[in-house]
Amino acid sequence: MNTIDEKLHPILTTVLHRNAGEPEFHQAAREVLESLGRVITRHPEYSDDALLERICEPERQIIFRVPWIDDNNQVQINRGFRVQFNSALGPYKGGIRFHPSVNVGIIKFLGFEQTFKNALSGMPIGGGKGGSDFDPKGRSDREVMRFCQSFMTELHRHIGEYVDVPAGDIGVGAREIGYMFGMYKRLNNRFEAGVLTGKGLSYGGSRARKEATGFGTAYFVQSMLARQGTDFDGKRCVISGSGNVAIYAMEKILSFGGKIVACSDSGGYIVDDNGIDLDLVKQIKEVRRGRMSEYVKLRGDGCRFVKGGSIWDVPCEIALPCATQNELTGADAKTLVENGVIAVAEGANMPCTPEAVGMFRKAGVLFAPGKAANAGGVATSALEMQQNASRDSWSFQKTEERLAGIMHNIHEACDQTAEEYGAPGDYVLGANIAGFVRVADAMRALGVI
Ligand code: NDP
Repeated sequence: MNTIDEKLHPILTTVLHRNAGEPEFHQAAREVLESLGRVITRHPEYSDDALLERICEPERQIIFRVPWIDDNNQVQINRGFRVQFNSALGPYKGGIRFHPSVNVGIIKFLGFEQTFKNALSGMPIGGGKGGSDFDPKGRSDREVMRFCQSFMTELHRHIGEYVDVPAGDIGVGAREIGYMFGMYKRLNNRFEAGVLTGKGLSYGGSRARKEATGFGTAYFVQSMLARQGTDFDGKRCVISGSGNVAIYAMEKILSFGGKIVACSDSGGYIVDDNGIDLDLVKQIKEVRRGRMSEYVKLRGDGCRFVKGGSIWDVPCEIALPCATQNELTGADAKTLVENGVIAVAEGANMPCTPEAVGMFRKAGVLFAPGKAANAGGVATSALEMQQNASRDSWSFQKTEERLAGIMHNIHEACDQTAEEYGAPGDYVLGANIAGFVRVADAMRALGVI
């Protein structure tokens, strides 16, 4: 496991002090700082003018009240957030998450990660993230619409196609983006398509955006495997989650010849040794908004549902955590290594704890950090912005080819940077350094702001 360079200790101390009670942000900042010792030793100019302190401090943090009226005519209050982390490379860009666990520390960690991820994608976008502690589960369509409208009633003042461009994340898909875009359009009296991404195709969305994060993760793993002279063919894969990222990672992996044997939701996991029936998963999660526990009844023999427990107990060669942060612990990593895992890629943001990452690296398992492996989503969002700006609409094939090219380039950037800094095969170090250098170069050019 990397340790932090002593020159960077004071920066981490400031982060811990200034952001007390925000463990996810501390974890994300520590992980990036751990990779930067070699860079500032070779290029001390990157620590001039408090650049490292500035990169760890969001440019702006907005917290607001979101009042709305439920179907029983009761007033409900939630809290809304937008953390505009860094705009050195372009307008802030990052998703909106609706989940009861959301707080400012979680949004800050996501915005920080997003900054380096967006840089790594090579697209001209800064980093930000937003969300609310609103829980869409069990809420009617009308309730979700009223919530989204109230949320946008405040958020609209802070965003814009050249300012900040939100997208979806956990709990925010095409339905929620549609309601938010509608309210933005009404409040501003502008059809400003480039203000949100992940839009429906009928009003300015991009083909392949829905699929992009999951497809991109599969492409990244394909590149890692190819580097070792192997591929997905016939390999057992376990994927946590059954949301947007997980479903489309499964789809692409199936097309690459992989065999998906398990997936999950927050209620538990299913194991299907015949291979997961993806159409059935889509029917349950995308159409009925149901629970994975329904899968067994609908699928019949040969599969089982495990309530609670850890999906990482299921033996596999490739593991993709695609649900949420810190869902794969040191104990899970130990089990995966003992069961012969060869590659792990973070479809979700920071799903592996630091102990788990340390264990994979020590065991020589190929490990792709989220800021590289799941960058396909935001990269395709940037392609959606590009289509909106040129009033164009590309074919699925063209968009997917761009996505595949971007994921290939991200893989190369991580790989070559790791090599250049004396740690061949270390994708964590490669991703952190390559992303950092791009943001830092722009910040240095812009002066102390
Ligand atoms: P979705 O809301 O579509 O799906 C999330 C999935 O994870 C669901 O199956 C959900 O289960 C499960 N899940 C959520 N929270 C928990 C929890 N606390 N414990 C266990 N399971 C949980 O979200 P996405 O697929 O969009 O996002 C998944 C991850 O990928 C997140 O970390 C997100 O930040 C990251 N990501 C997403 C991108 C995108 O384009 N959507 C881009 C880059 C990263 P249930 O149905 O029971 O809630």
